[in-house]
Amino acid sequence: MQNISKIINGKQYAENLLKEIFPLSNHYSKKFLRNPCLAVLLVGEDPASKIYVKNKILTAEKNNITSVEIKLPIDTSEEHLLNEIYKLNKDTNVDGILVQLPLPLHISEKLIIQSINPSKDVDGFHPINFGKLLMGDPDFVPCTPLGCFYMLKKELNELDGKNVVIIGRSNIVGKPMASLLLSSNCTVTVTHSKTKNLKEHCSDADILISAIGKPEMIDDTYIKPNAIIIDVGINRLKLENAKTNEKKYKLVGDINFESVINVSQKITPVPGGVGPMTIACLMHNTVKAAFLNKNEKFVNII
Ligand code: NDP
Repeated sequence: MQNISKIINGKQYAENLLKEIFPLSNHYSKKFLRNPCLAVLLVGEDPASKIYVKNKILTAEKNNITSVEIKLPIDTSEEHLLNEIYKLNKDTNVDGILVQLPLPLHISEKLIIQSINPSKDVDGFHPINFGKLLMGDPDFVPCTPLGCFYMLKKELNELDGKNVVIIGRSNIVGKPMASLLLSSNCTVTVTHSKTKNLKEHCSDADILISAIGKPEMIDDTYIKPNAIIIDVGINRLKLENAKTNEKKYKLVGDINFESVINVSQKITPVPGGVGPMTIACLMHNTVKAAFLNKNEKFVNII
């Protein structure tokens, strides 16, 4: 049986954060006579990307944030996408721009990310925002690490001196996560596919964060007793019924939840952990962009 007190409920944390954001977006609407506005660009028909975009737009609508969805076909040229972004950069009624990744291979993600006005870069991937985060003075922090950080701050009163091991060094999760936690006085180790003795590193972690995309790879043999575990991984497992040939899909994280829950202090589930927080943080960043772009103060919630 699952020990519910050990579960870090990302869905609940996301609801709490959205409750704090809602009055801010309302206040903005009253003052500037329009809602904060998020533009989302989706190129192609990738099923997972379509679901992510749909969820982002639904959450925006529920939180007094206007969304503009721009759907483009898979054969959209890089030039066309750049032109769409330039139009949104200039549009004073648009506060945040998000390009759903991954993009088709003929489009350079690097070029597209760099074309977004940093003051509208609510994903926090632009080099200027990345640099500011690294310097400990961020404007926009990438949503997934920001969501993990929010939950860690709520779960632990004190982050100072904690040993954190992050598995995965992507620009979207691992690197910004490391920056945030380093600025919060953690001792951070970032590991990756070439790391030697991964288990040894992990077994020293007070906080273990996994973002590798390998289904249930991390079991209790990696875990320091009483550690806090954040599972960023989202992996779709195909389950096939041998008798009926019926296929089902199950979402699992990088962590073998059943094996790890007993040895850890607390753990985020998949689904219902990091995912909902990522979307809530996108709303946070959009409302923040709306205020900053009007030269208004925004008191950080996270
Ligand atoms: P990337 O593929 O960009 O990065 C994966 C990282 O994991 C790389 O640094 C890679 O190392 C490392 N890695 C891969 N295999 C191993 C291994 N066996 N041992 C140690 N390190 C390994 O992925 P993302 O960062 O974009 O995403 C990671 C996971 O998080 C995915 O499952 C993704 O779906 C999920 N995700 C979830 C989000 C959410 O909202 N919950 C948001 C974003 C991502 P190397 O650099 O050496 O190749």
